[in-house]
Amino acid sequence: MRAPLRGLFELLLPAICAACAQAVEPGRSLCAPCDRALPRFRGEAPPLLPASVECVTATSYEGAVSDWMRRFKYPKRGFAGLDPAAQSVLRAWILEAAERTAGERPELVIPVALHARRLRARGFNPAALLAGALSRDMGLRHDPTVLIRIRDTPSQTGLDRRARRRNVEGAFRAREDLDGITRVWLVDDVVTTGSTAAAAAHALAERGVRSVTVVCAARTPLQTHEAEEPIL
Ligand SMILES: [Zn+2]
Repeated sequence: MRAPLRGLFELLLPAICAACAQAVEPGRSLCAPCDRALPRFRGEAPPLLPASVECVTATSYEGAVSDWMRRFKYPKRGFAGLDPAAQSVLRAWILEAAERTAGERPELVIPVALHARRLRARGFNPAALLAGALSRDMGLRHDPTVLIRIRDTPSQTGLDRRARRRNVEGAFRAREDLDGITRVWLVDDVVTTGSTAAAAAHALAERGVRSVTVVCAARTPLQTHEAEEPIL
């Protein structure tokens, strides 16, 4: 959405908590008690992501977080088929995650790509919505066309680690004309083992990107890895 349009869109949203409808400060999507009650991720780095790739997140994919994620990714109502309350909550989370990165600001923000067939079926790429919102909120360059998903891989749900890695290996290609871009943020909604992000980071490295930080709204807690990753 273009910036003036987005401003108008935000004016239409009342300054109330998206979860409990209490008044909130302008620009906040959740009130302080609802925000404090969110499950936070306390775990290790994603096991299938190379140690050189930093991964930051805002929340743990369980409880209220998975409910918001479902509303965001599978919207039933709202403007143009999207859910504005869920979008504003997720936008706050991706910004919060990005503020945890240790290194310098990136030259480019890139969403994890969906295969064209899945994009057509879904109508939008949740990761691209988050990457776009993040780049506007932080004044960073954003390009959703850099990564291309060349294989339409089956869902990672129900696969063990080895199968996940194999499933997404070689699934991405990055555009050749990255013009000396070396530092990027790779945005996704949920990271589980990190296998998808690892495959995307590998494709970027092949084009000369030396530093990739994965910025995600939620991480799946270990015990639910295999069972609860959302179907992309
Ligand atoms: Zn609230």
